[in-house]
Amino acid sequence: MSRRDLSRHRIITAQDVEDAARAGVVELLLQPGAMLTPEAAEAVARHGLKLCGRDGADNEWERLLNSAEAQPFKEEICAVGRKLWQRMYVDGNGGNISYRLRDDAVLCTPTLLSKADLTPADLCLVDLDGKQLAGGKARTSEILLHLEIYKAVPEARAVVHCHPPHATAYAITGRVPPTCIIPEYEVFIGRVALSPYETPGTKKFAETVLPYVRTHNTVLLANHGIVCWADTVTHAEWYAEVVDTYCWTLMLAQQLGAPLSHIPAEKAEDLLAIKQRLGLPDARLAGDNCPVCDMPERPGAITTLPAGAAPKLPPAEMDALIEAVTEAVLKALEQKRQS
Ligand SMILES: [Zn+2]
Repeated sequence: MSRRDLSRHRIITAQDVEDAARAGVVELLLQPGAMLTPEAAEAVARHGLKLCGRDGADNEWERLLNSAEAQPFKEEICAVGRKLWQRMYVDGNGGNISYRLRDDAVLCTPTLLSKADLTPADLCLVDLDGKQLAGGKARTSEILLHLEIYKAVPEARAVVHCHPPHATAYAITGRVPPTCIIPEYEVFIGRVALSPYETPGTKKFAETVLPYVRTHNTVLLANHGIVCWADTVTHAEWYAEVVDTYCWTLMLAQQLGAPLSHIPAEKAEDLLAIKQRLGLPDARLAGDNCPVCDMPERPGAITTLPAGAAPKLPPAEMDALIEAVTEAVLKALEQKRQS
């Protein structure tokens, strides 16, 4: 059986694979943690080549990735990927899913693959710094976002990032939905956070959620989408469903044109107590000094910009803005008086 030694390469390209296949090679020897470009992974599958670690033995991380221990979580990630795609929460190759298999190893989805087409063999294993430990395909570029959450929240075992249209509609308008409208939302999500925009895939982007993750399980990502964390991948996907359906329902209510009725604050306290018993995070339980319920005046006319997300204008510009608005209002009043 002929084998080609590619263990000096950190990244394996389609060219490396094609050259080996042309030479009649059936096995590629890779360094531990070596990554394949998506085209290289596709060429490996097409030529039916076997990948193995240094000395021909699969390395420790490859063994973990392919273990019976990892299998049920890999299957759960694939099932959740299909749910996200079917619910139209991801498009193209968008969205990503991860599960903290061990303290030092996280299963995650690869880059450039539709979540509808995921199979357990596509998944990768990374360490807490994002270095790929095992897996034939390159890890998602968004894994840094997931890892910041795992590092900050010990209870977080699963992270789902996606772009559900209704929740993302709030995120692109710099708004968050109000609280105290629907009990299920209060219990499972509650007051959601909105993190400021940063370029996806960067460490800076990953860090934007840090002020919120300890007191929230769902964060709207400005001009981007959402991220949810939970104890299981299935539960993290539930939160995506709960927040998107809630945003959608509010938009429908807005079309009715009537004011929203609210759950009274004292009844909302009951829901917060249930939430506390379930061990779910909420900024209101962490004593954020805000009232339990937001009171928007009309449906969709939301409301609170989370701390840190408010636009900051220099004092001079703020004064000019106030003056311009005041002038416009007075002018309109004057015109109304004269008509
Ligand atoms: Zn995204």
